[in-house]
Amino acid sequence: MNKQQFTDYRLSDEITRALGIMKYESPTEVQQQVIPRALEREDLVVKAQTGSGKTAAFGIPVIELIDWAENKPQVLVLTPTRELAVQVREDMTNIGRFKRIKATAVYGKEPFSKQREELKQKTHIVVGTPGRVMDHIERETLSLDRIEYLIIDEADEMLNRGFLADVEKILQQLPKDRVTMVFSATFPQDIERLCQKHMNAPARVAIESTGMTASTIEHRLLPVHRNEKLAVLQDITVVENPDSCMIFCRTKENVDTVYAELDKAGYSAERLHGGLEQEDRFAVMNGFKMGNFRYLVATDVAARGIDVDNVELVINYDVPVEKESYVHRTGRTGRAGKQGTAITLMTRQEERLIGAIESYVQFEIPMIDAPTEAEVAANQDAFEQKLSGRRVVRNNKTARINQDIMKLHFSGGKKKKLRAVDFVGTIAKIPGVSADDIGIITINDQMTYVDILNGKGSIVLQAMETTPVKGKKLKVSKARK
Ligand code: AMP
Repeated sequence: MNKQQFTDYRLSDEITRALGIMKYESPTEVQQQVIPRALEREDLVVKAQTGSGKTAAFGIPVIELIDWAENKPQVLVLTPTRELAVQVREDMTNIGRFKRIKATAVYGKEPFSKQREELKQKTHIVVGTPGRVMDHIERETLSLDRIEYLIIDEADEMLNRGFLADVEKILQQLPKDRVTMVFSATFPQDIERLCQKHMNAPARVAIESTGMTASTIEHRLLPVHRNEKLAVLQDITVVENPDSCMIFCRTKENVDTVYAELDKAGYSAERLHGGLEQEDRFAVMNGFKMGNFRYLVATDVAARGIDVDNVELVINYDVPVEKESYVHRTGRTGRAGKQGTAITLMTRQEERLIGAIESYVQFEIPMIDAPTEAEVAANQDAFEQKLSGRRVVRNNKTARINQDIMKLHFSGGKKKKLRAVDFVGTIAKIPGVSADDIGIITINDQMTYVDILNGKGSIVLQAMETTPVKGKKLKVSKARK
């Protein structure tokens, strides 16, 4: 088969432009299999891992097919975790940025009322965890009548977490005339049954087990004694001297110990585990994405579905107990065509876990020795220079997509009977500005947010200081976020 290009799919200019900025040059294997079929509105059962580019595989075609003018949600994506919901929302927003697609994420532990307000706005895509999506359906804050596309992401993880019953309840309430896509790394019986019951003669697609990450990651195994682990870990970081690195531990306690040690030694580091408040987890994750610190010490909560550009080095401080987890952890590096290194520290007690991992990934992980004193000494200066030097600012996809966008805040909304057309009508009349320069508009009771695209934010801001909207004088300012 000839290698396909994104241009083969005749995507709209808005989407092609977003893909260009995100530096998606050619489709990954799962995208080649899924995009043409999804554009034909076929039901699909897809065996693919995280890291294979699966989010864009469903994101690109559904965003292409969405009818922008429809106010009610047309796409529902179910994910097993809050982190993945947020990640999928971000990816979909980026792909749909210039088509002005609005995606909303709903998940537990965040106030229901905030999400209810968001769902009252025009929103094309809703991404959520099954429990919270069910809550919104039961309390009638999420309308399903216009849903045309349902995507179930990481179905195997839904099953592991006991969410399949909720997924099934949601499926029963959705319009029958819809496209359904199920993505999963494995297809145990319960998921097969769900697919057979709720899908319409789905096409089946299987992508190689470790996806596109395999050839871009150098895997290494390093035998250590338990009480040397911390010292060897530090030696590795000196020798590798990465710009960004994730260190995975099996337990919260180990995360805290490793983090405390690195912090004491002056590393630019943060930690992430399930014991932290959700808000702090997002803050740490975002800080890492933005390049505010170099080292992230985490449990497996951080390993699934989190997309950070340019992680150079993954260190498994503990060997993961579950073989799948090895793929997820190491899949944080070597993404999007870049090279990465994954080093696993292995104690005697952990040897037995490696066999299962090797047969799962279908290769033997080469062994290496701990760095020698001479190697550490030779790299110490460069390492310290980096420690004290400026922090990396990552070339983050979302930042690139948003760089020409300014969000404006207007001091009036629904209570003043203002509607989106009133803002579009007024702003598009400003000399040098057209309707194409206006992005997502969010109207709340007392205020309105308008995204101005294409670097036209300052012109609009200045003009709107003296221009009324629907005869009403509003205060306008640059929104804080
Ligand atoms: P996913 O499997 O959806 O988590 O995606 C894995 C990573 O690949 C993410 O960093 C995506 O942004 C990136 N990616 C997805 N599709 C492409 C593509 N066609 N070209 C380059 N990078 C991609």
